[in-house]
Amino acid sequence: MTWEAVIGLEVHCQLLTKSKIFSGAATAYGAEPNTQADAVTLGFPGVLPVLNGDALRMAIKFGLAIGAKITGRSVFNRKHYFYPDLPKGYQITQFELPIVDGGKLDIELADGVTKSIGITRAHMEEDAGKSLHENFAGVTGIDLNRAGTPLIEIVSEPEIRSAAEAVAYLKKLHQLVVYLGISDGNMQEGSFRCDANVSVRKRGTSEFGTRTETKNVNSFRYVEKAIEYEIERQIGVIEAGGTIHQETRLFNPDTGETRSMRSKENANDYRYFPDPDLLPVVVTLEDIEAIRLSLPELPEAKRNRFMQQYALARYDASVLTAEAALADYYETVVKTSGGDPKICANWVIGDLLGLLNKQNLEIENSPVSAADLAGLIARIADKTISGKIAKEVFEAMFAGEGSADAIIKAKGLVQITDESAIASAIDEIIARNPGQLAEYRAGKDKLFGFFVGQAMKATQGKANPEALNRLLKDKLAG
Ligand code: ADP
Ligand code: MG
Repeated sequence: MTWEAVIGLEVHCQLLTKSKIFSGAATAYGAEPNTQADAVTLGFPGVLPVLNGDALRMAIKFGLAIGAKITGRSVFNRKHYFYPDLPKGYQITQFELPIVDGGKLDIELADGVTKSIGITRAHMEEDAGKSLHENFAGVTGIDLNRAGTPLIEIVSEPEIRSAAEAVAYLKKLHQLVVYLGISDGNMQEGSFRCDANVSVRKRGTSEFGTRTETKNVNSFRYVEKAIEYEIERQIGVIEAGGTIHQETRLFNPDTGETRSMRSKENANDYRYFPDPDLLPVVVTLEDIEAIRLSLPELPEAKRNRFMQQYALARYDASVLTAEAALADYYETVVKTSGGDPKICANWVIGDLLGLLNKQNLEIENSPVSAADLAGLIARIADKTISGKIAKEVFEAMFAGEGSADAIIKAKGLVQITDESAIASAIDEIIARNPGQLAEYRAGKDKLFGFFVGQAMKATQGKANPEALNRLLKDKLAG
């Protein structure tokens, strides 16, 4: 391992506002092309942009969540370039004075070690439109619905050292923006996309090598592949005596390779200057404090609280707090069922998530509501049904057969707790199996399981397991 990778990520995250960053046009995904392109989006002469207050508040929320400094007076700039999906000929973005200044994100590495990744800045900007190549012969279609959608671009320090760290960082960032409710995080729809800057250097040296930037990779797996490919490619070029050129590259998911797109522009190519149509954005300390108060409980805080309040292992708490909706679901189950938090966690993580994953469902679309699951757990706690029967009831609930109580009643699954009924079932089993009884009494303890199985079968699995075990032990002992 003589080479070391140096990676910095730029993430474009669409903010979840109803309207665009500088106009009232809608931002909803999937509308007919160009139905959400108003005069400001089209850059008509004489129109004036007006900053969307929600976009600003969301950007500040993000800054506070990563411990950044919020810039009291940030400025919008024009960044000039020509592209058919950018009608104005410039993009409105922030340059020297971004709204979010500094901050960090802690990631957890495979070996359990926590690493802090510095965030240089996050700035507000408008998205561009889309060029459509499919379904057009010999021409390109332009859809400007996305133009003007608010983005924050989050720029990391070059402190990431492997593809795996890059993915851990991205997942953490994705979790955070979704938790904050500032983005839907939908990667397929382009709401969260990543540019990966990669260079390599000899281990032990402190200077950075020349970097390439692979643009717009929109899945965690692709980012990992693109970075791995790029590291190997650069090492290969340098070891063969070549040099790396600073350039923009594209990732091809079909081949897993990156290829050169264009040589990289420098900042002065863009002729950045403050947009004269927009006033500087002034936020007061009171504004910032009000937004701070509106922050939800963040993933790590929630995980730590779950470990404390519910005495859960770190792993369980992490799984349950991966998404805010899942954490809410779990807490509703605990409160409503009055059940043991660990048992509730087992049901949510093992049974519920198991079936949801199998059917590719999100927690929001779970066929079993938190109240339904609580109802089931309450019936185990009050000994109406055994834990084993409960699995059967749960599957029926998931299949839409009704509440736990309705299913228990319809299927006649109420647990047998009457000890005389259990005892007589045991007597019958013992009488029917004299050979096994003799062997058991001669010391073959393993046969206990055989008798449990027989007795459970005789009671259709409904015997209270504790009573059955106790009575069986007594009777087998003779
Ligand atoms: P630009 O806007 O031109 O892409 P920036 O200076 O904003 O340039 O940097 C973009 C990203 O590149 C940042 O995430 C930064 O950490 C990363 N970066 C800068 N230098 C290197 C390097 N030598 N190797 C890898 N990443 C780098
Ligand atoms: Mg860049």
